[in-house]
Amino acid sequence: METVTAKPTQEAHYSFFKGVERNFDKAAKFTRFESGILEQIKACNSVYSMKFPVRIGDKIEVIEAFRVQHSHHKLPCKGGIRYSMDVNQDEVMALASLMTYKCAIVNVPFGGAKGGIKINPKKYTAFELEKITRRYASELVKKNFIGPGMDVPAPDYGTGAREMSWIVDTYASLKPGEVDALACVTGKPVSQGGVRGRTEATGLGVYYGIRELCNVAEDMKKVGLSTGIEGKKVIVQGLGNVGYHAAKFFFDNGAIIVGLAEYEGGIYDEKGLDIYKVVEHRKATGSIHNYPGATNIKNSAETMEQPCDILIPAALENVINGSNASRIQAKIIGEAANGPLTPDADDILNKKGVIVVPDMYLNAGGVTVSYFEWLKNLSHVRFGRMDKRFRENQYGNILHALENLTGKKASDIERNQLSHGPDEVDLVYSGLEDTMIGSYHEIREAWLSLNGAADMRTAAFTVAINKVGVSYEELGIFP
Ligand code: NAD
Repeated sequence: METVTAKPTQEAHYSFFKGVERNFDKAAKFTRFESGILEQIKACNSVYSMKFPVRIGDKIEVIEAFRVQHSHHKLPCKGGIRYSMDVNQDEVMALASLMTYKCAIVNVPFGGAKGGIKINPKKYTAFELEKITRRYASELVKKNFIGPGMDVPAPDYGTGAREMSWIVDTYASLKPGEVDALACVTGKPVSQGGVRGRTEATGLGVYYGIRELCNVAEDMKKVGLSTGIEGKKVIVQGLGNVGYHAAKFFFDNGAIIVGLAEYEGGIYDEKGLDIYKVVEHRKATGSIHNYPGATNIKNSAETMEQPCDILIPAALENVINGSNASRIQAKIIGEAANGPLTPDADDILNKKGVIVVPDMYLNAGGVTVSYFEWLKNLSHVRFGRMDKRFRENQYGNILHALENLTGKKASDIERNQLSHGPDEVDLVYSGLEDTMIGSYHEIREAWLSLNGAADMRTAAFTVAINKVGVSYEELGIFP
C-alpha cells in the first residue's frame, strides 16, 4: 500500500491516458469501424472530480478524489478504487478505459470505470480511512455514480475487502430497503456478501493466463522456451494482493521464483525463493532484504532486469519505460499491474521478440470474479447451494454402480475425490479458469490473423474494439 513508484525519466510528461489511446489507435486500423464509432469507444463518458472535507485529528483536510465512467455501452460500469498519492484525473481516466477493454475481452457484460482518492493510506488510522471512504461513497451516491445497475466499484491498489464493506454499508444506509444493495460494490468480505475466491482472483487469473501461453508449443517456440510452467524462472514486482497471489500460484505449481521486488528493494536467488518464507521474513524484519541465501538489490526496479523467463510487474504503471526496457532479460512479460509498460517500452521489447501479455487480458481475473460476486448478490444465493448435495449423491450412485460392475472398491481418497460436489470456491475457480483459457485463445486467434503485423496487446485491443464497436452499432446512436 506504499505509493513509491518508479517513474520514467525519458517520458517525463507521460500521459497514461494518451498511452492507452496510442495503443488503441495502433489496433483501430485493423478494425472496420468508422472514425465516429472509434472516437466514441475511446472517449470517457462521465468524469466526476470531487473535493470534500474530512476532519483528521483537530484539522480539516480537503480530500481530492475521482470516479470516471469510461463507457456506458453496457451497464453497470465496473472498476476498482485506488488509494495513492499518484492518483490524478489522467490516471483514473486511463484505468477506466482499460476496464472497458478488459470487460469486453473476458466477456463480462459491463462498461469500464475507475475511482481514485489522492491519499497515502499509510498516513491514516483505520478510523480516519473509514471516514474518508464513507464520505467518498456518499459523494458517489449523491451523483448516482454508484449502484448495482449503474456503477459497481471494487478494490484496487491500496484498498481491499475492508474498504468495500464500508462502501456497501454506506450505500445501504442511504438506500434503505434496496433489495439489491449488496451488489453496489464487489470484493467485499464473504460475511458482507462477498464471494469465495475473490481475494486471490486477479493473481490466480495471472497464473492461468501465463500457464495457457506456456502450454502452446508454437508460442513457446517463438521465445525459445519449452512448454509448461514447471521450472520456468519467474520475477515478480510488488507483493500486494495481485503480486503475492500470482507468485504463490506460480510457486505452488512448480515455477522457480528467482526474484522478488518491493518498494524497499529487491532480492534475487537463481536457485529459487520460497514465497511463503519470504513473506514471513518481511513481516518479521520489516524488509524483503537479507533473506537467507538471496542477493540484495538496493534499487528495487533493477530486480526486473535480472535473468528470468517470465517477469510479472504487479505494482503500478510506467515501471518499464524507455529508459530501462532494453535491460529487461525476460522472454515473457505478464502485465499483472495496469499499464506497467509505457508505449516506448512496448516498442523496444517487441523489437527484441519478447511476448508481452497485456494487462487488459492478464489481470482480468479480478473483474471476472467480481462479476460472479455481483451475480451472487443479485440472485441472493450462494453458488453451489442448490446442487452440491444433489451432485454428491449422483456421483456416489455412479461410483457405487461402477464398484458393483467391476467388483473393485475405490479407496477413501478416490471416493472423496470422485464424489465431491462443487463448493462456491470450486465453481468460482472453474469459471475463472475457463474465462482465462477461452479469452487467451480469442486473443491468440486475432494475433495470428494479423500475420506478425502486430503484438499481442494490439491483438487484444482489436478483440475489445470489435466487441464494443458492435455493441455501439447495435445500440444505435441517439439522433
Ligand atoms: P496492493 O496495494 O495490494 O499491492 C501493491 C504492492 O506493490 C504493495 O505491496 C506495494 O508496496 C508494492 N509496490 C509499490 N510500488 C512499488 C515499486 N516501485 N516496486 C516494487 N513494489 C512496489 O495493490 P494490488 O491490488 O495488488 O494492485 C497492483 C496492481 O494490479 C495495480 O496496477 C492494480 O491496478 C492492478 N490490479 C489489481 C486488481 C485487484 O483485484 N486488486 C485487479 C486488476 C488489476
